[in-house]
Amino acid sequence: MGHIEDQTPHRDDGAFLMELPPFPKEKAGNSLCKGSSEKRVATYCSALFLVNRRTERSFIMLLHIPHASTFIPDDEKTQYSQSVLKDQLEKMTDWGAGRIFNVGQRIEFPYSRLLCDVERFADGDEMEKVGMGVCYTRTSNGHILRRVSPERRAEIMTKYYWPHHTKLENAVTDELHKYGRCLIIDCHSFPGVPLPYERDQLRPNFCIGFDRRCQETGEAVACRLHELGYTVGINRPFAGALMPIRYLNDDRVQSVMIEANRDLVDEPQVSNQMDNVLAGIEAEFYM
Ligand SMILES: [Zn+2]
Repeated sequence: MGHIEDQTPHRDDGAFLMELPPFPKEKAGNSLCKGSSEKRVATYCSALFLVNRRTERSFIMLLHIPHASTFIPDDEKTQYSQSVLKDQLEKMTDWGAGRIFNVGQRIEFPYSRLLCDVERFADGDEMEKVGMGVCYTRTSNGHILRRVSPERRAEIMTKYYWPHHTKLENAVTDELHKYGRCLIIDCHSFPGVPLPYERDQLRPNFCIGFDRRCQETGEAVACRLHELGYTVGINRPFAGALMPIRYLNDDRVQSVMIEANRDLVDEPQVSNQMDNVLAGIEAEFYM
């Protein structure tokens, strides 16, 4: 298990910010946008220009998109009741996350989270208690989704979970070799109406998750979204961002989770706004 544990992703519980409310609009200038110096404004403007010429520039940050696929191979589908599967795909898929996050190298998990949730800890994830660890056995309502024997779980880990984490870790390593730094954006969407298993019922427009080490970058993302007029929850209703354990304490690697409210993701301006926010963050981070 030694090397496997070494690859376990880390999700900080973000407890230090869990109790903060989403930013009140009028406080943005004081509490968060402290870096709005001329330099930052200039960077942001040049980033906007670059996004408009997107075909001429490649973006280098990593967009980790773990929950946007609905694909489950036919031989795996037999494990589920088809009506329950249809309902849970509707509720649990991160709709829109594959569409509104575009500026960066995409690392997408090509299977549904109902088959394997690569954002969970390999061992001891607290969501195991409600049947929603790496291999979901319960639905978002707490009903039976499927049964997974220990042997079957081990197969799923080997076939789907570890290869994805190896791919992500290798992409981070490549970034470090090329640029000396790496920024992971962990891209999600959440339902506008909370699901029964969600303990935090807050529904901002966006939720930004990060741990203490990535606070500056996380707050910069939150600030830019807030400047566009959106409500933003910091580590609420979801906390932390995925970080390969190999780079857990490596300051060259930063990870910020962006969760978009699904009530927003079909609005036509959101994708372009996200492009601009991420381009600005990337320009600042890698400069
Ligand atoms: Zn998600």
